[in-house]
Amino acid sequence: MAPVWNPATGERQADVVLAEAADVDAAVQAARAALADWSDTSVIRRSRLMFAFRDLVDKHADDLARIVSAEHGKVFEDAKGEVVRGLEVIDFACGIPHLLKGEYSDQVSADVDLFTFRQPLGVCAGITPFNFPAMVPMWMHPIAIATGNTFVLKPSERDPSVSNLVAELYAEAGLPDGVFNVVHGDKTAVEAILDHPDIAAVSFVGSTPIARYVHERAAASGKRVQALGGAKNHAVVLPDADLDLAADQLVAGAYGSAGQRCMAISVAVAVGDVAEPLVERVRAKARAIKVGPGLEVGSEMGPVVSREALERISDSIAAGLDAGAELVLDGRELDVPGDGFFVGPTLFDRVTPEMDVYRDEIFGPVLVVVRVGSLQEAIDLVNANNWANGTAIFTSSGRTARVFHRSVQVGMIGVNVPIPVPMAFHSFGGWKQSLFGAHHMHGPEGVAFYTRAKAVTSRWPEETDDGSAHGTDLHFPTAV
Ligand code: NAD
Repeated sequence: MAPVWNPATGERQADVVLAEAADVDAAVQAARAALADWSDTSVIRRSRLMFAFRDLVDKHADDLARIVSAEHGKVFEDAKGEVVRGLEVIDFACGIPHLLKGEYSDQVSADVDLFTFRQPLGVCAGITPFNFPAMVPMWMHPIAIATGNTFVLKPSERDPSVSNLVAELYAEAGLPDGVFNVVHGDKTAVEAILDHPDIAAVSFVGSTPIARYVHERAAASGKRVQALGGAKNHAVVLPDADLDLAADQLVAGAYGSAGQRCMAISVAVAVGDVAEPLVERVRAKARAIKVGPGLEVGSEMGPVVSREALERISDSIAAGLDAGAELVLDGRELDVPGDGFFVGPTLFDRVTPEMDVYRDEIFGPVLVVVRVGSLQEAIDLVNANNWANGTAIFTSSGRTARVFHRSVQVGMIGVNVPIPVPMAFHSFGGWKQSLFGAHHMHGPEGVAFYTRAKAVTSRWPEETDDGSAHGTDLHFPTAV
């Protein structure tokens, strides 16, 4: 049993029963039992099911967002945004008949044709983080299910409830029992998934140390695995940028969802003389953010997810000060009545790459400014970082933007866009320690991840009158 907190009040609002290995096995057996029928269900029926599920998620978007806000703490409109971004993956999955069309080559040799098509993997599992309890699982299960797999979801134990409503909506849409299963749990459930012989593939999103471990352990037991990790996303601001736009976008990217986004901007790289006016603008805008309970009208930023997160973030702020960074805005001074897990927008200037406040993923509303002399120095800084999820550049020069997006070793790049999360019909993923495995999530790479290709070479020879063979040739066959 683990507590589910209300981050806005600090109260324990529910308990979640944590699965043992036997519970995981029961879910896997249900998924296994459903697999043969589901993978044989026509692609049109699977698509229609997705359309029905899509309509229900749309109809219940407010209900889903309210649950997310109540357990995660993010403000309601932000929670609704994540539901909509999840819905877009379901939209994409509705097009599965088109996405699964194979390829056909006629007459590759005399009387020989060759075609390729893709089939589901089997039982797939998803292990997801607390920060997008609705959207991140939706990066996975709609595509896994539409491609003919069955699925076991292990959501974060910190905000588990929204996954229960998602399961109800699938059932209401007509999805057969056992195709989508939810198991609540922690490390014990994760290990049972990673080692389970009947699970073919694992999709993981979470912090880098766990992503690395999930990747290694799942691969060691022969599974296909994609494991997305943490981030430290840099936004580079050039002197020719529209500074008001850049400051607005930095504030949104750094403090939205209290900085608990894998695509949050946590480092602003100020090039040349842009630092002074930029820091002043960001400070003024950050101070004006209305921090309050996520479900209270008018709140722009909610609490962080837990008391431990609050303490960790406060410790990071103290460490930044000790290391000599200039604390321009101190979120610890924020006072929201009650016992909620609130910390305000925090801004550090004159941060250097050796400081922990630069090196660690703080995962809170803390933005650090690093001053550099040139675009090349900014690019070198971005590329020296081991995290490589997202990055952004603010400039009015197309040429500068082009040099940047071609040179940075990062998976997702924004040009005057702070949180460049690709749409569902493209794929999402970072490089280096932000992703272990070969496939990004959703979009075409999601379809590729949840299926494997077959290539069929076929000959239908003309019958001979006497039934004799057509000759034996022991050479490696080549086209004739
Ligand atoms: P987390 O790594 O603590 O937990 C993620 C999942 O792993 C949860 O389901 C949790 O139950 C499980 N888990 C936790 N500790 C475990 C352990 N020791 N062994 C096995 N399983 C374990 O991450 P979080 O705090 O829930 O989420 C925040 C992190 O996720 C941040 O690092 C953030 O950057 C990252 N994230 C990345 C992306 C991305 O797309 N790259 C997206 C969202 C979040």
